Amino acid sequence: MNTFETFHLSDKLKTVLAELGYSSPTPIQAQSLPHLLQGRDLIGQSATGSGKTAAYTLPLLERLDSDCPDLQRQRGLQALILCPTRELALQVSGEIRKLGKKHIGLKVLPVTGGVPIGPQIVALEKGIHIVVGTPGRIGDHLRRNTLEIASIRTLVLDEADRMLEMGFQEEMDFIFTRLPSARHTMLFSATFPTTIESWSRSIQNDPVRIVIEPETLSRPDIEQRAYVVEPLHADRVDFNDRLKLMLYLLKERDPASCIVFVNFKADASALESELKRIGVSVGALHGDLEQPDRERVMARFRNRSIRILIATDVAARGIDVESVDTVVNFELPLKPEIYVHRIGRTGRAGRSGISMTLIAAKQVEKLAPLEQLTGMKILIQKGLDLKNRKLADLSADLKLDSEMETLFIGAGRKNKLRPGDILGALTGECGIAGEEIGKIEIQDYISFVAISKRVSRKALSGLETGRVKGRRVRVELAR
Ligand code: AMP
Repeated sequence: MNTFETFHLSDKLKTVLAELGYSSPTPIQAQSLPHLLQGRDLIGQSATGSGKTAAYTLPLLERLDSDCPDLQRQRGLQALILCPTRELALQVSGEIRKLGKKHIGLKVLPVTGGVPIGPQIVALEKGIHIVVGTPGRIGDHLRRNTLEIASIRTLVLDEADRMLEMGFQEEMDFIFTRLPSARHTMLFSATFPTTIESWSRSIQNDPVRIVIEPETLSRPDIEQRAYVVEPLHADRVDFNDRLKLMLYLLKERDPASCIVFVNFKADASALESELKRIGVSVGALHGDLEQPDRERVMARFRNRSIRILIATDVAARGIDVESVDTVVNFELPLKPEIYVHRIGRTGRAGRSGISMTLIAAKQVEKLAPLEQLTGMKILIQKGLDLKNRKLADLSADLKLDSEMETLFIGAGRKNKLRPGDILGALTGECGIAGEEIGKIEIQDYISFVAISKRVSRKALSGLETGRVKGRRVRVELAR
């Protein structure tokens, strides 16, 4: 079963598959090809990178052979493939050209927004067999009568849920009105909200349904989400809109510990002061920090005196923190590898984690490569319109303050200081109850103690005037 031989593919395609090194079908191909090659409609669920492009392209090319044996003379449009983004459309066109390389004279054209329409009109006039387009631009051509889809034989909706998420519903409904009634229709989607089910009902004929579970993931315990910062369709979104959305999300999530990643150190400082101003206790790590300050920030974060740490990627390198339950990407990182690195900060040691990425509407297409790299779907959420919400009320009942703060002690392991000594001094001389004391971290020459805010002043003055292990030590609140 694990070879393309079992399908009745033309010799031409078998040769191409062999040349491309596609020795065995992927699960989505294996399950869908038998139906698709018989012309059955299909509704398929499978992730990016699963090989679904070939799953629909192979039947499409076979059909092209029988409908259009002389591609050099027959120039009518045969197939329309709709994709959510230009990037995907280009990728799909490339895959079709690869698989169709023995189809002499085959014309495949990406027809997407983001590029001038003129050359597309010229190319369409000359005759194209397969158009791979995004809904907005396809609708545009239909209205200008520069594209005619009334005689296509095959229709593919690739990543239908993404098209819906990107606000293409009306455009899709319009495109559907221009379709011929007899055609082969394949619909792929990672999720099936009611709109997509109803699309399927209105454009498909008794489709077979195929679900391929995503491959087992290297990090199954990280849930990746992306949040579109309103206003929708904006190219860029401003700092305040991001900040408001982040506050809203943090309030919902109420993380015990969270790293907020920013791309530039200026943003780290801006975010830190803005959050401090509205009363959220945060720390920030960025390149300009001196080592002792860096140590303090990390110690406070480790012992949960601060729940939110803002960091640039460079500063976060080598950051010594076990695991956090939440990672926020205040912006998309500049490279996909950085994204993978960032979200790897959560979901460690068998605990589950969430990554929340704030994106502009126009950046939705940048998520596909991230999904490919992580092998996981990123859930997109949008429509959280906070335009009329004030920063003040979003932060008003934000309970992101920690109950603890941190005492810095100017002595450490090399001074023969041990946790018991600090604990003894606090509970003995200072009269502080054990429950009020959190993590005690002893480094070579310094130590940090997490202590409940209720008694931190008392602890501070007690240690300042008293002794630890018979010695006077320097004590401060680490801020
Ligand atoms: P897709 O999910 O369609 O984006 O495909 C993911 C990648 O897998 C593409 O780079 C394809 O060229 C490749 N691919 C598709 N089918 C196969 C196959 N049967 N064997 C090996 N590679 C494949």
